[in-house]
Amino acid sequence: AMGGERKGKIRPAVPLSFDEIGGQDRAKQELIEALDFLVHQDQISKFGIRPLKGILLTGPPGTGKTLLAKAASAYTDSVYIAASGSEFVEMYVGVGASRIRDMFKEARQKAQKAGKTSAVIFIDEIDVIGGKRDGGQQREYDQTLNQLLTELDGIHTSESPRILLIGATNRKEMLDSALLRPGRFDRHIGVDLPDKKGRNHILRIHARNKPLHDEVSMDKIAEESFGFSGAQLESVMNESAIYAMREESETIMQRHLSMAIDKVMMGEKTDRESTK
Ligand code: ATP
Repeated sequence: AMGGERKGKIRPAVPLSFDEIGGQDRAKQELIEALDFLVHQDQISKFGIRPLKGILLTGPPGTGKTLLAKAASAYTDSVYIAASGSEFVEMYVGVGASRIRDMFKEARQKAQKAGKTSAVIFIDEIDVIGGKRDGGQQREYDQTLNQLLTELDGIHTSESPRILLIGATNRKEMLDSALLRPGRFDRHIGVDLPDKKGRNHILRIHARNKPLHDEVSMDKIAEESFGFSGAQLESVMNESAIYAMREESETIMQRHLSMAIDKVMMGEKTDRESTK
């Protein structure tokens, strides 16, 4: 019931900075470079550069794509509006399209009300709306995707407030080529699983509010958690705290973290098995 009620509802922003995103140095840098186009709008039009309309974040689940979109909104001092692609899937033709229209309208209104010159619209699971159609024929009838393209094509440099669409997907190869053309998703940024240094950074961010024992080696934990996403690393820190608390330990010890790594790893395995 909850899911149904939330359909199409717009969730408000939480201010977040790039500092709260661990690792992802290259993705952050590429994103900031792209956002500077939005920030220095006057320069951009002086040089006759095409306005940036859409940024596509691609990569596995839980790597921080949503965090990056929120940080992008804060960086450009924009209002933030988010939805998931699945919220636009409707049984009745035209409902998804009108939701897209409403979302862009609401973004403009919200920005105006807040006195901001730009709005960031984040759509997670964009492949649900913008997926490839078999045979290419059906797409003509896909009003939701068409509406999204229409909205993108309607964004102009001179317009105020400016709209920036950020899409996220972990299945880039599934996207319809219409979305990937210049003037639509102009920038593609890969958000990959973190390397060891990135994992260390993410673990430290999520350890900030936790009592860690002095003996804890974050480097070792980062090594043991090879292949983990940011979301999994957040779980590791959380689970380790639960183990420590259960043992009535004053602090989180190395072994609590190792146990938590095993638990998160096992959890993944059972998840995968249950979907078989
Ligand atoms: P999905 O594709 O499943 O929507 P996502 O890439 O958007 O995933 P987020 O929603 O940004 O992932 O991440 C989920 C949670 O995992 C975050 O709220 C945060 O707690 C943690 N997390 C993920 N990546 C990072 C990161 N790079 N730094 C810090 N925390 C992270």
